[in-house]
Amino acid sequence: MALTGIQILKLLPKTNCGECKFPTCLAFAMALAAGKTELDLCPHVSDAAKSELSDASAPPIRQVSIGVDDYAVRIGGETVLFRHEKTFFNKPGIGVLITDAMDDGEVDRRLSALEYFQYERVGVTMKPEIAAIRFTGNKDRFLAIAKNAQTRPCSVVLMCDDAAVMKEAVEVLKDRKPLIYAARPDNYEAFGALAKEYSLPLSVAGNGFDEVASLTEKLTAMGLKDLVIDTTKRQVRDAFIDQVAIRRAALMGKFKPLGFPTITFPCEMTSDPMKEIVIASLFVAKYAGIIILSDISGETVFPLLLQRLNIYTDPQRPMTTKEGIYPINNPDENSPVIVTCNFSLTYFIVSGEIENSRVPSWLCIMDTEGLSVMTAWAAGKFVGDLVGSFIKKSGIENNVKHRNLIIPGYAAAILGDLEEELQGWKVLIGPREAAHLPAYLKNLS
Ligand code: SF4
Repeated sequence: MALTGIQILKLLPKTNCGECKFPTCLAFAMALAAGKTELDLCPHVSDAAKSELSDASAPPIRQVSIGVDDYAVRIGGETVLFRHEKTFFNKPGIGVLITDAMDDGEVDRRLSALEYFQYERVGVTMKPEIAAIRFTGNKDRFLAIAKNAQTRPCSVVLMCDDAAVMKEAVEVLKDRKPLIYAARPDNYEAFGALAKEYSLPLSVAGNGFDEVASLTEKLTAMGLKDLVIDTTKRQVRDAFIDQVAIRRAALMGKFKPLGFPTITFPCEMTSDPMKEIVIASLFVAKYAGIIILSDISGETVFPLLLQRLNIYTDPQRPMTTKEGIYPINNPDENSPVIVTCNFSLTYFIVSGEIENSRVPSWLCIMDTEGLSVMTAWAAGKFVGDLVGSFIKKSGIENNVKHRNLIIPGYAAAILGDLEEELQGWKVLIGPREAAHLPAYLKNLS
């Protein structure tokens, strides 16, 4: 059972040395209880306390990693049933199915789709991440596709029920840490031994969660920890019920045999691509760790990625952009200087409007802890002296020879204080709405 911050504090050294980058042991304990830091950051915890805290602070759904380096997909690690209770941590990996029955052109198209369909949204890159390679009887093709996937920027799920063929594919991809799919009641010992030999994550496929729980118990007894669950239900209603039941059993029932992320197959639940994406969106919300699609196209995958982004952002933390100076449209020493806050949405709307205006400009983004202009002003984080001090420290004075600064229309009230702080600068009040920036900037020049 999860410990509270105070319970964790009792197990810490309480020296407030600050080596964990928190000012006090209490602050560290509170962050640990909230799942916002790692126990390893405190180098002074005793082994006994470490063991107690590791067990207690482990999430009820184990975090499992598939793939390596930049292409690693982390799934599981969840601690709540509903996003608004805290946050969902690890977004589900989205994958495309590839089989050994497909020709080279089709295989390449699908692997390339994992690279091609990338989208930028509020500073985040959204993309599908996983190639799910299925063996249907042609070993040479299966191994050739595994080899092809080896050099692609994606993670891999290897799907095969023949342990000998799986071993050959694992040998090809072992450095890419693929997920082995799947250990079943009749082959779990061979698949468990394979996963253990190569230290790879293993998927467990059983008929319903009773059979799955029995398999995870046996595999856990073999020493395997990184498991991924499939209850093999391919009717949407049944699969959905299992997802919810597994999450509830792990979180509320503390039932460890089901405390693992899941893999789902919308690709096997319908032949209609649009319906498939609707089903996939159901599993984004509740509670898939991996979602395998039959194919990927822009019109189907983009809304799914966007839904995933929305659900897996932390509702307690506004999205922010890094503080700094952003040159837009190749500005020079005569270009206007605009300042605003670092709420991501503000940054992307304002920078987009400046880009549209085609007026070369310097956009100065000030850290307001992700608050929008009005909220930051009301909270005292976007006020005259702070904005003035930021402009002086930002280095923008080295980029321009004029001393004119445009502030958001909603922050007009800071003008007096700002001019006092920024001696020698003339402060101009910009439009309230970003949409009016292009006309405003064109009129300046
Ligand atoms: S490093 Fe450990 S002992 Fe030091 S302040 Fe952090 S929690 Fe306390």
